[in-house]
Amino acid sequence: MDIYYRRRGNLGIVVQKFGGSSVADAQKIITVAKRIIETYDEGNQVVVVVSAQGDTTDTLIEKAKEISATPPKREMDMLLSTGEQISISLLAMAIAELGYKAVSLTGAQVGIKTSREYCNARIETIEDGRLRRELDAGNIVIVAGFQGIDSENNITTLGRGGSDTTAVALAVALEADRCEIFTDVDGIYTADPRIVEDATKLDEISYDEMIELASLGARVLHNRSVELAKKYNVNLVVRSSLNKNSGTVVKGVADMEKMVVRGVAHDYDIGQISVVGVPDTPGMAYKLFKLLADENINVDIILQSTARDNTRDISFTVAKSNLDRATSIIEQNLEMLEARQVTNSDDIAKVSIVGAGMVENPGIACMMFEALAEVGVNIYMISTSEIKISCLISPEDVEKAIRAVHKKFKLNYE
Ligand code: ASP
Ligand code: MG
Repeated sequence: MDIYYRRRGNLGIVVQKFGGSSVADAQKIITVAKRIIETYDEGNQVVVVVSAQGDTTDTLIEKAKEISATPPKREMDMLLSTGEQISISLLAMAIAELGYKAVSLTGAQVGIKTSREYCNARIETIEDGRLRRELDAGNIVIVAGFQGIDSENNITTLGRGGSDTTAVALAVALEADRCEIFTDVDGIYTADPRIVEDATKLDEISYDEMIELASLGARVLHNRSVELAKKYNVNLVVRSSLNKNSGTVVKGVADMEKMVVRGVAHDYDIGQISVVGVPDTPGMAYKLFKLLADENINVDIILQSTARDNTRDISFTVAKSNLDRATSIIEQNLEMLEARQVTNSDDIAKVSIVGAGMVENPGIACMMFEALAEVGVNIYMISTSEIKISCLISPEDVEKAIRAVHKKFKLNYE
């Protein structure tokens, strides 16, 4: 993404993002409007990004499915972008009702230019002219999250949860003082507090740790938003829309204080594919994964068995939504791959630990395996990086697994 630095005036700019649950009904919209006005009254120029109300986006997806199992992606984006258009107008009305000036803008009206990957577009540039004019005219500017336009003005969307990325991108484009992501929890936790009763809210987390946690299934932030925040060193805060608590600051280097492992994440949204009997010759992994890359299917954990009878089995995971498509692509190419069989399963989940301090501390993986062994959890696949360790396990084991791992690393440290 390219940015233009042109700071005008003396006022600081604050970007605030409110998710779908924070604007789910009229009462909540009015509460959010008051919160925004407080920030404005503190002397800031305020740009607000909102998501579609409640489960609007899911409802729109359902509507499309009633008509087609495979709707054209361009039309999906046309449809889904309407959800955010409802919230921005209602929020602007609420602010006006409270006696303040507000203007709502769609992604197109702002000039949020994206690539043409419908349903998963990337922001390329943001024009700041209209935004600055509206701000300088004293308006609170309400921008539709999750959407933009491509070079031919087709409406695009940024992928589920993409409003966070809109907010961070606007903060970059406007060189905002801070970007606040408001949600219905107090910040980033050491584990999902709905499952782990003594999960602790983190005061700080590093961009790198947050990127891992976001992509490992902690759904608080869209992971591309954190990548962007890291690239431009955005002052990013995740906090509650329900109270004034300080939230979690996401930043360059977070306070390492006694925390080797920062958090435990889990993800039910994965499926596993096994390709059985692939010839043990060079180029086979390339051929296999090229098929998927050409279809834009992301592959996560990959495991290759040792060779037996000159063949190997290759297993890997993909998002659940890609499981059927990926399997059928391979099935159609079994002959070319000279493989015996392809099988799949969605009866799988992932539990991961994340922490920048792992690099310098040996024995962390072993501790995680010990925790899982103690509660009788079987591990199907393992993958590690410098700052994370992931284990594939049965979905039924997820809750006891994360409780055990959370306890083993004493993450209830308060
Ligand atoms: N409304 C979109 C979704 O539900 C984008 C977002 O909420 O960030 O995924
Ligand atoms: Mg979200």
